[in-house]
Amino acid sequence: MAIAVVRNDNMTDVWKDALRAQAPDVPVYGPGEDFRESDIKMAAVWKHPPGSLKTYPNLLGIQGLGAGVDFIFEDTEIREDLPIMRVVDPYLASDMAEFVLAVATGMLKRLQYYKYNESLSLWKPKTYQRFKEVTVGIMGLGKLGLAVAQSLESAGFSVVGWTRNSLPKVRFEVFRGSAERTRFLKRSEILVCLLPLTPGTRGILNRDVFKTLPKGARLINVARGPLLEDGDLLYALDQGMLSEACLDVFHTEPLPQDHPFWKHPAVHITPHIASVSDPKSVAPQIISNYRKLIKGAVPENIVSRSAGY
Ligand code: NDP
Repeated sequence: MAIAVVRNDNMTDVWKDALRAQAPDVPVYGPGEDFRESDIKMAAVWKHPPGSLKTYPNLLGIQGLGAGVDFIFEDTEIREDLPIMRVVDPYLASDMAEFVLAVATGMLKRLQYYKYNESLSLWKPKTYQRFKEVTVGIMGLGKLGLAVAQSLESAGFSVVGWTRNSLPKVRFEVFRGSAERTRFLKRSEILVCLLPLTPGTRGILNRDVFKTLPKGARLINVARGPLLEDGDLLYALDQGMLSEACLDVFHTEPLPQDHPFWKHPAVHITPHIASVSDPKSVAPQIISNYRKLIKGAVPENIVSRSAGY
């Protein structure tokens, strides 16, 4: 009985080490190692090659190594009966909260503008906004969206939120579903996207949404690239519907060299770094889920196949 770590990057060994340190009794393997595929009971995955998990005939569950599991649902060769789990971790939430607060601060205080002017030795003061004058709309009030809301509120921003069904117990106003979306958008001077990527959210950041936001609004997309219609964002920026956008996630990552976002003065790019799963912090929940699977118990943080998150 063992765990296989399958990732598309160079972090496989770091994850294997963290899992082994957490549970020295549990064999943990990566691709290319000498093990029996029939021994693998749990696959711990991040953007694994689609179809690659078929080689483990005795899998009991698939553990995503991040909060988002869209890449697992995109693998159509995964058995329908397998539970799929995701990461819920306090650092993932607090790192995201720190990141969004930093970006929103930089926007209001025009830090990117001054950095650019500095490269040209230009002294050009502009007005700035105070946090308390600005309302941030958060799309998605899950584990990360709620943490972001809390940190923005503590810093002095006004916050509104949007969910599919849920009504979290918070002091700020929450809008739900497509019926209340317009009212939510009209309030959002900075729009933060923290929705999961599902068939219902793909392309949701589009021209209609940008048109509905207050004129000159700002966008922060820290969720997934395919939530955004790239061409619609460029149009909205060029038409003045939006004044700037900070994007951490993209349709194709790394963002291709010839993508117009790189050269657009109002688009600020970070390389999918808003909040990254910390192997040491996350290892205990993965081992706990593995032991539950082996015992026939229900693991934690199972996602809904019908909802897609
Ligand atoms: P959760 O599953 O905890 O929360 C998702 C939220 O989105 C819920 O409030 C849910 O509503 C809402 N939602 C889902 N579908 C819709 C819809 N169609 N319309 C309106 N609201 C909807 O997710 P997390 O907060 O843990 O993570 C959010 C996403 O952040 C992840 O899926 C991932 O893609 C991304 N992420 C990005 C990172 C980065 O570094 N850039 C790092 C980690 C995650 P309801 O409450 O009603 O269910």
